[in-house]
Amino acid sequence: MPAPIIVWFRNDLRLADNPALTAAAQASAERSAPVIPLYILEEETGDPPLDPWTLGGAQRWWLHGSLERLATCCARHGSPLVLRRGEPGAVLDALIAETGAECVLWNRRYTPAQTARDSAIKERLKARGIDTRSFNAGLLAEPWTVRNKSGGPFKVFTPFWRHLSATLNPPLPTRVPSDLLAPRTAPASDPLESWGLLPTRPDWAAGLRKRWVPGETAALSHLADFLDGPVGVYATERDRPDRASTSALSPYLAFGEIGPRQVWHAARHAAEARPELAPGIDAFLREIGWREFQYHLLHHAPELPDSPLDRRFADFPWREDAAGLKAWQRGRTGYPIVDAGMRQLWETGWMHNRVRMIVASFLIKDLLLPWQEGERWFWDTLVDADLAQNAGNWQWVAGCGADAAPFFRVFNPVLQGEKFDPQGDYVRRYVPELDRLPPRWIHQPWAAPTEVLRQAGVRLGDDYPRPIIDHAVARDRTLSLYNERKGKA
Ligand code: FAD
Repeated sequence: MPAPIIVWFRNDLRLADNPALTAAAQASAERSAPVIPLYILEEETGDPPLDPWTLGGAQRWWLHGSLERLATCCARHGSPLVLRRGEPGAVLDALIAETGAECVLWNRRYTPAQTARDSAIKERLKARGIDTRSFNAGLLAEPWTVRNKSGGPFKVFTPFWRHLSATLNPPLPTRVPSDLLAPRTAPASDPLESWGLLPTRPDWAAGLRKRWVPGETAALSHLADFLDGPVGVYATERDRPDRASTSALSPYLAFGEIGPRQVWHAARHAAEARPELAPGIDAFLREIGWREFQYHLLHHAPELPDSPLDRRFADFPWREDAAGLKAWQRGRTGYPIVDAGMRQLWETGWMHNRVRMIVASFLIKDLLLPWQEGERWFWDTLVDADLAQNAGNWQWVAGCGADAAPFFRVFNPVLQGEKFDPQGDYVRRYVPELDRLPPRWIHQPWAAPTEVLRQAGVRLGDDYPRPIIDHAVARDRTLSLYNERKGKA
């Protein structure tokens, strides 16, 4: 039998529009070579680790479900998925030695550590005469292909998107390859359960199981449902956490269970079929554009996850406040919209974008805690955690990133709640102890008359906390610190 082709799956856990798999299927058809689909649970052996951003808890849960489904699909298409754990270069070497594979294909990743690791592996395998090739499955345009008029990277989103959306012509998504030829002897594979990706004691994933179905099939139906319904109101209602008006595609995109080209073409197709959807679809694709922009930034500024891009913030006098941080993480700040968001995150592994901005602003500008604390918490708790999106957005809210909201813009959690959750339905869903408060008071229970609180059965400081900080005082403190810095700039 001809030498096998290894397809190394990473954050591209799908069969459709998967260029590495398509190339493998083509090569396999030409020379009857078997295809070995492989997933490696990457382990860091170095000290310090090459990639400090190993998967957080919520994403480990998701990965288990995603691999279960990918394994079913690969088996159905003829060649079972091989699961191995370890340092990826060593795992590939071992599999090549065992199977005599002469070709390794994968789709590219874009974080600094992943790029470094993949380049080193590619160089080494090529030097050994292994045909090693990589493809783009994860972005509409890879960061180094997008240049401003002077040939440099973009630093501001609007011109970036204007340029990209005008020049973009993403290839049509490829179909799921027809049957894959399996190797005569199946390589050994770890039982997925042995990886311990699912939480056990305690099992905190009940809310995630209720909310999500990982995998490619679910991703495609999510997109179809969104384009059939909510996209119609997306342009006007995407900021409303009390409505299901966004796509909730982010975890599927983070794991590559769906790719941006599929999203792009399906959305464009929907706009052609139903021109009245155009405003919603334009607004939606603009957000996909933000996803691209964050990768563009990360590629050109690899320090994005750790250090402020605006160096004026490098020695910002952040506070230390373990109790404040814990109250924020647990959703017990006394500000209902903040607490609802943090509890939605804990319960479901996801939070509405508007509320992400509100809770991030609260952590950074009310509690004066470093944005990196929030970034780390999100990393562990979000099912859609994505280094570029997470870091770029935290820096955006902190006012120290590229094209960021200005630092002096401090979200008022009461006004934000009243504007974007006017009836308090979102708060009621995640902060049930405030369920019976009328809309007038639900975003500021501490200001409600005693009788209203009594009738709603709320005992402040007992069932629900009083605000851990006075927003007006916190805002003044933050602004005066900012003004001092500005003076120094
Ligand atoms: P939709 O509104 O349906 O948008 C469609 C897609 O566009 C999203 O799935 C996402 O891929 C992209 N998108 C939307 N908003 C943004 C944005 N602000 N920046 C970049 N891409 C965007 N998104 C992540 O995917 N992973 C993260 O780790 C992450 N961390 C964030 C941290 C903070 C502090 C903030 C403010 C935002 C963060 N976001 C992150 C961006 C955004 O909140 C989510 O992408 C969005 O809420 C996902 O919901 P959706 O799929 O329904 O989005």
